[in-house]
This record gives sequence, C-alpha cells and structure tokens, in this order.
Amino acid sequence: MPGRGNEGVHFAVDYLTQANRVCAGELEADKSLSARGKRVLVVGGGDTGSDCVGTAVRQGARSVHQVEILPRPREYSGEPNPDWPRWPSILRSSTSHQEGCTRDWAVSVTQFSAGYDPWVRQAHLARVEWRPGRGGLQPVELPESEFNLEVELVLLAMGFLHPQHGRLLEDLGLELDRRGTLAVDASCRTSRPGVFACGDAANGASLVVSAIAHGLKAAAGVGQALR
Ligand SMILES: Cc1cc2nc3c(=O)[nH]c(=O)nc-3n(C[C@H](O)[C@H](O)[C@H](O)COP(=O)(O)OP(=O)(O)OC[C@H]3O[C@@H](n4cnc5c(N)ncnc54)[C@H](O)[C@@H]3O)c2cc1C
Repeated sequence: MPGRGNEGVHFAVDYLTQANRVCAGELEADKSLSARGKRVLVVGGGDTGSDCVGTAVRQGARSVHQVEILPRPREYSGEPNPDWPRWPSILRSSTSHQEGCTRDWAVSVTQFSAGYDPWVRQAHLARVEWRPGRGGLQPVELPESEFNLEVELVLLAMGFLHPQHGRLLEDLGLELDRRGTLAVDASCRTSRPGVFACGDAANGASLVVSAIAHGLKAAAGVGQALR
C-alpha cells in the first residue's frame, strides 16, 4: 500500500508488545511506541484491533478510529444462533470499545500520506461493497466514497495468515496447506516423520483454548508414535 513506509505506521503486535513491556516494567514508557496525544487509526476490526483500541485509549490517545473491511454484522437480538453450527456472525463489542472509539465497517484503506516529514499525516479510505467475484465475495470500492482521516499513528491489526515461511520450515521441508499453515493429519503429524505441529502454526490464527486442545492432540500423537 502506498505510504506504508511512513513513520507512525506499525504492526499491531509490535505496538502491543511494547505496551505490555512497559506494564511489566521492562521498558520505559518514554522509550516506547505510545498513542499519547495522537489521533490513532486501527485497521482491522478483530480482537487484536480491539486490544489496540483499549491500549491506545489508556495511553491517552487524542482519538481512536477503528475500521474494518467486512460489513457491519447484525446486532444480537436474542434469537437462537441462525448461523448454527458456525460461530454466530453478530456485532461484538469488547470492554475496549466501551472505553471509547469510533468504529466503521465496509471501509478499506487505500493509501497513507505524509506531510513535509516522513511522519504519517493522513489515511485515505474508501467505502466498499462485497460483490460476487472470482473465488467468492470480493470488496469493490464504491465510486466517490473516498474520505480522509487525520492520523499520527496507524496500527495494522489485520491479516494474520500463517507462520513465517522462513528457514525453520524450509530446512525441515514441511508441507503447507492451501492457507500456508503447516499441513498436519488428525494426530498432528506433519509431512516429515517425527515432526509434529499444533496450535496457530497448524490451525491458523485462532484462540488459546484451540491451541491447548490441539496441543493435547499433538501430545497424544507423539505418545502414539513413540510407542
Ligand atoms: C494481539 C493478540 C490478541 C489475542 N487475544 C486473544 C484472546 O484474548 N484470547 C484468546 O484466546 N486468544 C487470543 N489471541 C490468540 C492467541 O494468542 C493464539 O491463538 C495462541 O497464542 C496460539 O498459541 P500457540 O501456542 O499455537 O502459538 P503462540 O502462542 O504464538 O506460541 C508460539 C511460540 O513459538 C515461538 N517461536 C516461533 N518461532 C520459533 C522458532 N523458530 N524457534 C523457537 N520458538 C519459536 C514464538 O516466539 C511463540 O512464543 C490473541 C492473539 C493476538 C496476536
């Protein structure tokens, strides 16, 4: 994306890690990335984005805006889960959202721009509509829907895809599935005998409970292999 290299545009996890280290007394607050006094844009409406919202508010951000490319889910009206057996697609608001931020849906960031210095000053956005396309629904930018936000800090909280495809996986020669995560069987065996994988590396970005459950499965698989 144009402008991604501007100062002040960071991955959410880099930002959250620093905030945690400040809380743990491992890093001085004035040496860390902080939202204090800044207009903050969080790109991504998931749990990681919500963690960024809460952290930025507590650090004293001037404003916090969170955008999500997917449409706004419906409000929960008490009916049994209509998406059963899938996790219901309803609007979720975390305690971080209750602490205060502006949320917007069906919005895509198109560009960041800087002023006279390399520091990010504006985010350029456009509204999208999801239309059928090749491989399913695709976001299509709506004409004349562009708008800008004044920002001094942008946190990228989207696109957790798969483990890094670096030397560890290459040297082991492990097969990946079509999502780029490690291909495993029901016992968590990878394509290489004696190598097991579980948790996010094999499931894709998920939850702690799923990682623990998968870890137990892997342990059983390892036990079986050793026996
Ligand atoms: C910002 C954020 C907020 C989240 N909030 C929640 C939440 O509120 N509730 C929830 O249930 N889940 C949450 N999750 C998801 C949850 O953290 C993960 O699903 C879970 O941690 C996955 O566990 P794991 O053991 O598979 O992987 P990880 O917890 O990622 O552990 C993998 C470990 O392997 C290490 N590692 C990587 N490469 C190597 C290597 N080459 N050599 C040695 N070590 C290596 C990493 O440093 C890491 O410590 C959140 C995730 C993020 C990013």
